[in-house]
Amino acid sequence: MPVVLPAHGPRGHRPRRSAVRAVASALTVALVAALPVTAAGAARPPASVADEPSSLSVRTAGDLRVSGKVRPATARPVRVERRVGDSWVTVATTRSNADGRFSAEVPTTLFVGRSRLRTLLPAAGGAPETVGDATTVTIRAKGKASSRSLLIPGKEAHRWDPCRTIDYRVNLRQAPPGTLGEVRGALRRVTMQSGLRFRYAGATGVVPGTRNGTYPPGTDLVLAWVRPGQSSHFPRGSGAAGFGGAYGSLTLDVNDRAVPTLSDGFVLIESGVYEKLDPGFGAGKPYGYSGTRGQLLMHEIGHAVGMGHADRDRGQVMYPVMQDAPAVWGRGDAANLERLGLSAGCIAGPADARTTARRPGTPRVLAYLP
Ligand SMILES: [Zn+2]
Repeated sequence: MPVVLPAHGPRGHRPRRSAVRAVASALTVALVAALPVTAAGAARPPASVADEPSSLSVRTAGDLRVSGKVRPATARPVRVERRVGDSWVTVATTRSNADGRFSAEVPTTLFVGRSRLRTLLPAAGGAPETVGDATTVTIRAKGKASSRSLLIPGKEAHRWDPCRTIDYRVNLRQAPPGTLGEVRGALRRVTMQSGLRFRYAGATGVVPGTRNGTYPPGTDLVLAWVRPGQSSHFPRGSGAAGFGGAYGSLTLDVNDRAVPTLSDGFVLIESGVYEKLDPGFGAGKPYGYSGTRGQLLMHEIGHAVGMGHADRDRGQVMYPVMQDAPAVWGRGDAANLERLGLSAGCIAGPADARTTARRPGTPRVLAYLP
């Protein structure tokens, strides 16, 4: 649904900010008056950051910049963050110049939908971290928010605990050079939309669904490039470009409630098809195989984090057939990733969840899709 914003956008905060500055200057004057003239560096005026997006609504691949001014005017690093659940995910970084001015280009192909954005000045050179006001912007995505399903159907989604990182390994023995960069690009898109975080744990010889399929300790997800029939999860003659999935089971949460969770995720990519696809996340070739390596990875990783297919909406990455279009999440994908990510809250809490007991006797369900 389109987001209707008031004519003045998010400017209601302006008077409040001037009020804060006025109080701050009054305080500075008072301090200076009360101190002997020899006191050096007594009152540093508090920093502030004012920002303005170039647009409140933009199409995917459109131009979205956040520009503004840092006070007092100094050259400092500036971060633009997006609210996901109760957290903020960094979406752009830049620096202010000596006049305090900055402009950050916000990506419009890595996440979509209605987003709360804010600017932040990280603590630097003795200056404390300073947060600016938040603004709501919309990156308009394709299709319908209802175009989505779960990898393991049910009232409650089987999902990863978004409050711990998902440690992944790659088996690139049958993958072309540059593949790890594309894996990182696809995972970054999952992170920006869902808040799920991934950590590279290194290379592995493991092929999920084979006798050599046991994950090294501390490995949550394995991505492997295979030939059809090489893994029991990748039947010969399936005609698939890849398979993605995970095991579902019930885990006790912080309140001792059994909640559906995912573990031992996997992505199997058909190396012959992958070789023929265009690299990156663009529109791909105008003939031959549709789509890109990036699109295939986003789709299969989408399964590994709990998404099923969007069977009737070609605007979704989770549509079961590769599309002749840039690899950008659709509205259904985005809604699904948000339900599976940080917006849905922690499962085991921020503490190390590896100690979480699996409920005895809970069956683990293997679920995966091409
Ligand atoms: Zn699929």
